[in-house]
Amino acid sequence: MLRRCSMSHFFIATVVISTLISILGQQRPWTTMLPQELLGLDLRFDKNATTMASTDFGRLTQVLPAAVLYPSSVQDITTLVKSSFSSYLPFSIAARGHGHSIHGQAMAHNGVVIQMGSLNHTHEIRINVSSSSSDFYADVGGEQLWIDVLRATLRHGLAPPSFTDYLYLSVGGTLSNAGVSGQTFLHGPQISNVYELDVVTGKGKMVTCSKHHRSELFYAVLGGLGQFGVITRARIALHPAPQMVKRTRLLYTDFSAFTRDQEYLISLNIGEGFDYVEGSLIRDETEIDTWRSSFSKKDKEKIRSLLAKHHLIYLLEGTKYYDTVSAPTADQEVDLLLNGLTFIPGFAFKNDLLYVGFLNRVYDGELELRHKGLWDVPHPWLIIFVPKSRISDFNEGVFKKILKRNSTMGPVLVYPMNRNKWDERMSAVTPDEDVFYHVGFLRSAMHDWEYLEDQNKEILSFCVDNGIKTKQYFPHYTTNTEWKNHFGPKWNKFIERKKSFDPKGLLSPGQKIFTSMPWQWK
Ligand code: FAD
Repeated sequence: MLRRCSMSHFFIATVVISTLISILGQQRPWTTMLPQELLGLDLRFDKNATTMASTDFGRLTQVLPAAVLYPSSVQDITTLVKSSFSSYLPFSIAARGHGHSIHGQAMAHNGVVIQMGSLNHTHEIRINVSSSSSDFYADVGGEQLWIDVLRATLRHGLAPPSFTDYLYLSVGGTLSNAGVSGQTFLHGPQISNVYELDVVTGKGKMVTCSKHHRSELFYAVLGGLGQFGVITRARIALHPAPQMVKRTRLLYTDFSAFTRDQEYLISLNIGEGFDYVEGSLIRDETEIDTWRSSFSKKDKEKIRSLLAKHHLIYLLEGTKYYDTVSAPTADQEVDLLLNGLTFIPGFAFKNDLLYVGFLNRVYDGELELRHKGLWDVPHPWLIIFVPKSRISDFNEGVFKKILKRNSTMGPVLVYPMNRNKWDERMSAVTPDEDVFYHVGFLRSAMHDWEYLEDQNKEILSFCVDNGIKTKQYFPHYTTNTEWKNHFGPKWNKFIERKKSFDPKGLLSPGQKIFTSMPWQWK
């Protein structure tokens, strides 16, 4: 730690940082001493710290930063960014939430990575639940994990309405993307459920923003891929939490019946249908057995015989929330819903789960995969949003043909969302249709990750060649033209916002959006 380092350590640190810090992406030696204002920060240059920050969940990229900041207060972050912004030799800075990116998005080549989780180790309480006359909300630190937000809010009988499937992700990290799951069709992505933010901009200024105050920054940051500021606090909407969920899994062999039912279910309003709708593919025996499916032995046998005949099964998953008051009618409501659906007769599977157990279901999967040595492996994931009008072509070309060539590689998720639950003013992008599908290829690879990356490219090429206008979620591009296409009509706004809030291009360099000098941004 710099705070305690001797003169020799200080000298090494200065030399190291001088060789590493870059001016807007260009390597230049930093000849001056480490600025005075950084001396009080817990800024670490050792191999342990920099190696940790050089990798992520994807395990496909390795990029070493010059240093890692372990902030003990939000002020430390402001100090760091301000120091870079006002320096003649600015350095890049990346906030790292939980490092669950795939392609190095939270890395900073020769810059400084901020280990956001360090804020959690201060004495300050970083999750505070409150209410106004009309709303319940929680003020949570950007570094907080959603599992901790859930646990803290449940103590008040409340919970956020919109989650991700996996809860060990940081608030700042998912709000920089969108935060989607089976509740998105009803409540919008997590970015649609934020009232207010505290953000340290690329100029090192702490700004509180909302829809009504400094709204340009507010909308920029939500889905903004970390480009406009570091989120240090988010005010998240809360709803009364249910206690239990009725989970229903329905099987289909006819893709159009599967999507018709999904689209019908997401057209229903709150209270009329399911509270959560997702879907996935079952393509081989191993997918019947995974932690994600958790069918009983008898049900597995039944599904196996179906799979032997059809080779590709579509699984629709819907859940209905309930509590002690609604318990007596919850079953009837689900049965009524099922009456209108066209799944294969006899292939509806129901079970009851605790609400928290349901929301935290992927964690069980993590433990299982860790146990098998399959968690800390390369993850060549691809997640795209596919417009509803072309999902059937996507099924024919990708699920039935391209994917046919390899079997086990992780879940493939397929579920629709309503665009009217997304706010166009935010930076996040979606396809240009009222309904679009989230299609996630959540691949784990032992040795063949290059092959799977190639297959991802093949899927994207198939879409381009067939005029299927997808948008990548959690996007990964390397050229200006690709980013321009990704943002489409939002691109000019994105650049304007970058010029306003991070004019020196310091923040989140790992996204590789602004790789040229600011005057070349176009
Ligand atoms: P990081 O990977 O640390 O950071 C992601 C980006 O956000 C980086 O550019 C970083 O610089 C920036 N950033 C981080 N913190 C801040 C901050 N405080 N302020 C500003 N910028 C910041 N996504 C979904 O939407 N739904 C899912 O169901 C879902 N499930 C997932 C399951 C797993 C197992 C994994 C690995 C990922 C999943 N994701 C899901 C993707 C997830 O949203 C991204 O990984 C996201 O990046 C959050 O991860 P993180 O908190 O570790 O962020």
